[in-house]
Amino acid sequence: MAERVIPLVDQRLAALRASVPAQPVAATGLVADTLGRELRDLRISVTDRCNFRCSYCMPKEVFDKNYQYLPHASLLSFEEITRLARQFLAHGVRKIRLTGGEPLLRKNLEILVDQLSQLRTVEGTPPELTLTTNGSLLTRKAQALKDAGLKRVTVSLDGLDDAVFRRMNDVDFPVAEVLEGIAAAREAGLGPVKVNMVVKRGTNDHEILPMARHFKGSGIVLRFIEYMDVGATNGWRMDEVMPSSEVRARIASEFPLVQLDAAAPGETAERWGYVDGEGEVGFISSVTQAFCGDCNRARLSTEGKLYLCLFASNGYDLRELLRGGASDEQLASAIGHIWQGRDDRYSELRSTLPADASAGVRRVEMSYIGG
Ligand code: SAM
Ligand code: SF4
Ligand code: SF4
Repeated sequence: MAERVIPLVDQRLAALRASVPAQPVAATGLVADTLGRELRDLRISVTDRCNFRCSYCMPKEVFDKNYQYLPHASLLSFEEITRLARQFLAHGVRKIRLTGGEPLLRKNLEILVDQLSQLRTVEGTPPELTLTTNGSLLTRKAQALKDAGLKRVTVSLDGLDDAVFRRMNDVDFPVAEVLEGIAAAREAGLGPVKVNMVVKRGTNDHEILPMARHFKGSGIVLRFIEYMDVGATNGWRMDEVMPSSEVRARIASEFPLVQLDAAAPGETAERWGYVDGEGEVGFISSVTQAFCGDCNRARLSTEGKLYLCLFASNGYDLRELLRGGASDEQLASAIGHIWQGRDDRYSELRSTLPADASAGVRRVEMSYIGG
């Protein structure tokens, strides 16, 4: 078994100061970073807690009973999240994704969904409001979320074989309950549902074809994610990454595929359609095929830090500004200024880094900033 790297420094404590620039950056609905990438997509982490312990994300050895989660007072309130989201929309964000940790563990999440769904983009339309979940609580929550204004859900599911799935979530959670959650989401009208499968070579790659067979023709879009070197606790190794090209070849050996156009600029998944017309599959190749060139995503952590990249070590403390009495204009100006200075492109640089470059790097955990 791979040795785990346990972070000696808690990256959550590190923060960059978010200051209001002397020259205000007005929200015009369009703000670009140093590489010309516009701000379009906001991912909001609503909790750092989770009821699963997926080894690639929150390994049990680290996230055990002694792990210190954020105290409630540190979390942004729903009102604070909504106020910040409004400023992001003013800069051109069109899509908001709620994530975590497990977002459905945040109490009364539908109240936040309701508040966010009343915001408007610069075009005057409601933001495209989605959520990524492990599906465990979806059966109970799907209808309330839909009623509150949620548009779609993405469910993470790493295999159909019950034993494999229980091992991967590492809390013995049965696959049948996630499948029920997916069905509940569809019945509630939270479609088209997407299903994300992280592929770890030697752990669940034998589930690729069963998953493809199961979801083909169902109207559900299955997407395969390359296992990423996020955080500092999952003991990531390149030999456990199965490149999307290999996953695709495996599927194509049974079901011929044809490449489709991207759904939207900055879309993370490459889309491939079944030649027989029975739907499509997606591939998110953050390791073997970097897509930093049009990365338009900002991430807001559970306690209000703005991260410009999934692989960033530090975030900008917007909560300090919020709680320090900043006006909406000042908040928007600070966000615009931070985005304008962005030059992150970790995945593009990864291949140029020495193989051991990740060792000892203090990166924030995915469960903290959200996927
Ligand atoms: N708990 C929710 C879930 O699992 O859907 C939302 C948060 S989770 C951090 C968001 C996504 O990140 C999930 O689809 C998960 O599979 C993915 N993820 C977590 N760690 C990953 C890793 N090391 N490599 C690739 N994807 C990862
Ligand atoms: Fe929890 Fe999602 Fe991370 Fe799994 S991937 S441990 S479900 S936050
Ligand atoms: Fe965006 Fe960072 Fe991922 Fe590149 S590595 S696509 S900049 S989040």
